[in-house]
Amino acid sequence: MATNGKEACGVKDGVSVSSNGTNKDFAKSHSAVGNGVAAEPSSHSKLRNTGTVQSGKFTFSPEPTIEDIRRMQAEFTDERDWNQFHQPRNLLLAMVGEVGEVAEHFQWRGEVAEGLPDWTESEREQLAHELSDVLIYLVELADKCRIDLPQAVIRKMALNRLKYPASKVHGSAKKYTEYKD
Ligand SMILES: [Mg+2]
Repeated sequence: MATNGKEACGVKDGVSVSSNGTNKDFAKSHSAVGNGVAAEPSSHSKLRNTGTVQSGKFTFSPEPTIEDIRRMQAEFTDERDWNQFHQPRNLLLAMVGEVGEVAEHFQWRGEVAEGLPDWTESEREQLAHELSDVLIYLVELADKCRIDLPQAVIRKMALNRLKYPASKVHGSAKKYTEYKD
């Protein structure tokens, strides 16, 4: 469907997107976002799509939040009268398609080192676009299913900690069913 197919989620079409992937309109109205981009250290130019690196640790920018992303996409969809297409099942299928687009960037490359040191800036930016497509559809799917995603993540992480106690699974990739009490 041309009107809500690839890229229709707002990563490229119809949204002002800067070279580092920031929504200019959003940044304008959310000064903290603009500040975050401006504060990005120029000494990490090879990593300019990837947040900040301090003391060897990578971190995301604090904004936009998941709620910010939900609102941005809701506005994008409303403005185009696309809610008629963006029902849960369609959003799920769209998200899976975008996961495939992420996979295309890794296909046939063999193992890829953390930080993608051998990738060009263009390749990194294309990956950033596809990862964003997945996230945007995921957030919209949660929205349309009335799942409060940030709080759901907290509950799920608590369950994961119970399922995989660090004391039992440290350094092991076994599934939880392979552990005995
Ligand atoms: Mg895509």
